[in-house]
Amino acid sequence: MSEQKAKKKDVTITINEAWCKGCVICVELCPESVLEMRSGKAKVAHLDQCSACMLCELRCPDFAIVVVDNSKVDQSSE
Ligand code: SF4
Ligand code: SF4
Repeated sequence: MSEQKAKKKDVTITINEAWCKGCVICVELCPESVLEMRSGKAKVAHLDQCSACMLCELRCPDFAIVVVDNSKVDQSSE
């Protein structure tokens, strides 16, 4: 099994731009400086730094961010 040393976590961040009102809360809260504002919307700038702390998802007032820690995703079949 190989380790991905470049990444802190195998994580997927999805930002729903239609729901993002550009309040910057997520950018200011993120302890790893993963997010940044571009054209008034939050964007993922440094995915490799994300520690999957979930703060951005929890604190976004518009539920525009979904963070998935892929190491915790249950891949079992239905
Ligand atoms: S906290 Fe939510 S609404 Fe605010 S900038 Fe981030 S994604 Fe957009
Ligand atoms: S999950 Fe945590 S580290 Fe990752 S982008 Fe959100 S606030 Fe930043």
